[in-house]
Amino acid sequence: MKILLFDIDGTIVDVKKSGQKALFDAFLEVTGQDCSKINLCMAGKTDAGIIKIIMEAFKVDNSQKNFIITNYIKNLENNMKIINSFIMPGVMEIINFIKQKDYYVPGLLTGNMYDGARLKLEYFELFKYFPFGAYGDNHCNRNDLAIDALKRLKHLYGDESFSNEDIIIIGDTPMDIECGKSINAKTIAVATGPYSMEELAEHKPDLLCDTLENTSEIITFINKSSI
Ligand SMILES: [Mg+2]
Repeated sequence: MKILLFDIDGTIVDVKKSGQKALFDAFLEVTGQDCSKINLCMAGKTDAGIIKIIMEAFKVDNSQKNFIITNYIKNLENNMKIINSFIMPGVMEIINFIKQKDYYVPGLLTGNMYDGARLKLEYFELFKYFPFGAYGDNHCNRNDLAIDALKRLKHLYGDESFSNEDIIIIGDTPMDIECGKSINAKTIAVATGPYSMEELAEHKPDLLCDTLENTSEIITFINKSSI
């Protein structure tokens, strides 16, 4: 069994910052404060972590949080209809390959909250291919998402069905690599997000690709990386 846990933004799709815009607009609508000038790199962070940072920076009471989230999801749904998003090269080929066998378990390990992930992927009719997911609703730290994913996978499939090295985390940021390492999973880093090949290489992923287009190299790696 091989469990493939994909990041979303910069890895499966490029939604042209529609999520960031949706969140900043939601924050303005609910609090009246413009947080768009905040110096914050969102890549690799979880939605829970991003919302916490912004709320603390602007001293917003926690009672506003659910209103911000509700507006965020509503804005994101609208943005997905008007922003020119696209699926990253090679993604469909990998999905088409792994969906052929039950041996491969495709899933998500994403900083997006569940509803955000669903909206971004349903737009491309891709959400149905990822029956398993660890989402950024409650965890501020991506490593905690990985621990949560591992726990639930063990519960679902049993301790004996796979080793941690049969989990492969695929993402576009150093945080994806680090969270994979934190649970002794294998990592594939892809430079289709904000980080260059050189920057990602510093974090020593098990496989580093400029895009996911070289499907045969990626499939070979996935099949090989068992113990
Ligand atoms: Mg990403």
